[in-house]
Amino acid sequence: MKKYLVLIFALLSGSEIIMAEGFDDITLKTSKVSGNVYMLEGVGGFAGGNIAVSAGKDGILIVDDQFAAMAEKIKNAVADINTGELRFVLNTHWHGDHTGANAIFGNNAIVIAHNNVRKRLQAPQENDFGQSPAQPKEAWPLITFDESLTLHMNGEAIDFVHFANGHTDGDGVVFFTESNVIHVGDHFFVDAFPYVDIRTGGNVLGYTNNVKNLIERMPEDVNIIPGHGALATLADYKRFYDMLVSTTDYVKTKKNAGMSLAQIQGDGLPKKWDSWGHGFIKADKWIAFIYQSLDS
Ligand SMILES: [Zn+2]
Repeated sequence: MKKYLVLIFALLSGSEIIMAEGFDDITLKTSKVSGNVYMLEGVGGFAGGNIAVSAGKDGILIVDDQFAAMAEKIKNAVADINTGELRFVLNTHWHGDHTGANAIFGNNAIVIAHNNVRKRLQAPQENDFGQSPAQPKEAWPLITFDESLTLHMNGEAIDFVHFANGHTDGDGVVFFTESNVIHVGDHFFVDAFPYVDIRTGGNVLGYTNNVKNLIERMPEDVNIIPGHGALATLADYKRFYDMLVSTTDYVKTKKNAGMSLAQIQGDGLPKKWDSWGHGFIKADKWIAFIYQSLDS
């Protein structure tokens, strides 16, 4: 769970210098997922969100790019898979641990994301973890979309679909339709309470609804790349969904009975959810996200 601790720094992308020092010991593990798709995941520390790589005759596409300090390691890991040209970088949302290397890769590749990702990278943002400065022009997505777009590459349709007001207001999920892989971004923290960025348009109720819709679209044998955590199955995702529904119902019942946020936090969640709390999102924070989402 140490990696979630470092996420605090990750979301404060202004502290690039502090973070750069912490990256020396981190390596990227490459796993072949299925079909043309690979997953890059940080080992030995918090490298940022998981990266999906599509590699084939049409070149390289990656989903998310962690931090600027990881760019060289990402380049090397991708080159080990395929020496083709990096053509596209897709961002699942604006957070600095998913877009941090845009300014580097954006010089050569085309960055694609939802309209709201571009807006948020263009201006300073503020959330639970402090301020993020506006990003340089090279980091801004060159192509944006409102609802969805499809790339036709490496023998398959790669659908990039917006899911509204979940983790943020600009989340996109990437469906590798032939490879049977879905990168769900931060709509999944495996066996952990998720971060929901209410101040930039996230909402626990919207988030839960998005997860439900995703589960309904997924075949039984789907390979799920989560924003944070190990490669997962549909059963893992259903367990996550059950946690979302169950803890939301729990907080909602208490709130409707007139309890304040502090009172509900004082009581905590049922014991069965203890292991889901981690470094920067323990039960009291998760309760607050639910409570605030019920108000908005
Ligand atoms: Zn995020």
